[in-house]
Amino acid sequence: MDFDYPPEAEAFRSEFRGWLDANLADEDRGTTFADLVAGGERLERLRLWNRRLADAGYAAIAWPVEYGGRGAGVMDQVVFAEEMARATAPSTLNPIGLSNIAPAIMQWGTEEQKTTHLPRMLRGDDIWCQGFSEPNAGSDLASLQCRAVADRDEFVVTGQKVWNTFGQLANWCELLVRTDPDVPKHQGISCLLVDMRLAGVEVRPLVTITGEPEFNEIFFTEVRVPRSALLGPENEGWKVAMTTLAFERGGVAALHLGVRAKVQRLLEVARTTQVGGGRTAAEDPVIRQTLARVYLEAEYLKLLADRAVSGQLHGRPLGPEGSLAKLLWSEVENHLAQAAGEVLGAAANEGEWGRGRVYVRAMSIAGGTTQVNKNIIAQRILGLPRG
Ligand SMILES: Cc1cc2nc3c(=O)[nH]c(=O)nc-3n(C[C@H](O)[C@H](O)[C@H](O)COP(=O)(O)OP(=O)(O)OC[C@H]3O[C@@H](n4cnc5c(N)ncnc54)[C@H](O)[C@@H]3O)c2cc1C
Repeated sequence: MDFDYPPEAEAFRSEFRGWLDANLADEDRGTTFADLVAGGERLERLRLWNRRLADAGYAAIAWPVEYGGRGAGVMDQVVFAEEMARATAPSTLNPIGLSNIAPAIMQWGTEEQKTTHLPRMLRGDDIWCQGFSEPNAGSDLASLQCRAVADRDEFVVTGQKVWNTFGQLANWCELLVRTDPDVPKHQGISCLLVDMRLAGVEVRPLVTITGEPEFNEIFFTEVRVPRSALLGPENEGWKVAMTTLAFERGGVAALHLGVRAKVQRLLEVARTTQVGGGRTAAEDPVIRQTLARVYLEAEYLKLLADRAVSGQLHGRPLGPEGSLAKLLWSEVENHLAQAAGEVLGAAANEGEWGRGRVYVRAMSIAGGTTQVNKNIIAQRILGLPRG
């Protein structure tokens, strides 16, 4: 495996770095996910930033040119993610929409759906959420019960979704519904692109342990959705869902960037934090071992990402190693949060580290739980029998 970047990727890096230096305002640097979900004035600043990215062709570089992307290859995508992280540039308003929902619309959508939704999603004019999970359908998503009954040229939707990131900000939702309850569960699901402003849609924000309204419950009471909102064939929504989730799990190649930056920040803090006995945390023999462990785990995550990138360059689609990277990422994040406690003591319960220490629990659930990923690794990588 060649760890050097090809000259074209380095050329793209200097072009994009120059653009970021010229276009990213200092006050927008370091804008976090928490700022995004809080909405308000910050959200409007982010919308302007999103439009600037879109106008320059940087909002979704992996998208095909015909939809406003650059058709960028995997190396340029890696460089793009690295430069965004280096500049602490905020993401677009549609991190889920651009990377998960749009590919499903491109693959399954009608021409009208593509031309109506993709440009507005790209510019952040519309914000999208993903309405998949329900109170009794998470890991076992195909058990979903939210019903859509066909009535002439409409579907009448009734049911509940939960854990919908951005639901409180979104005006559109990629919604999975049950259109045929009388067939095996994977075969009776359809996917609808639902306007959240329709009568009968009610969003109830859920405030998490971090105090942020990150996700929501969405209730649908006899919502009349036009048949033209159907994405893909009726009763074949499971395939549309798989397209969406494949892209969600494909995002693993950039996961290490955030973790490795946090490891570096914690190492800096450890060099200046006194832990007693005239020693800094970095000089303490026990804490040093903890720090070395999280450092190595984060570097291992980077190597897994490099392997995934190399595979893509050689035409190998991302397989079960996506589960390995997701699992490792959530474990490193959890170990890092514990390490912050060892380094900072009670001070680790405040500010950025304090938020991280409670937020990390979500990472072992979102995008496939730890146990589900372990099952995938056991069966598909290790070849063990189904449990
Ligand atoms: C931060 C965050 C953001 C999210 N955003 C969205 C979103 O935007 N849209 C959306 O639709 N959903 C979203 N979700 C929901 C997420 O997809 C589900 O939480 C996840 O799929 C798990 O489902 P569940 O919560 O119902 O847990 P369950 O599936 O009920 O799992 C409960 C426990 O049982 C274990 N378990 C389940 N099945 C098995 C098995 N076969 N073998 C072994 N153990 C098992 C799980 O690992 C877990 O520990 C989000 C979740 C989080 C944490």
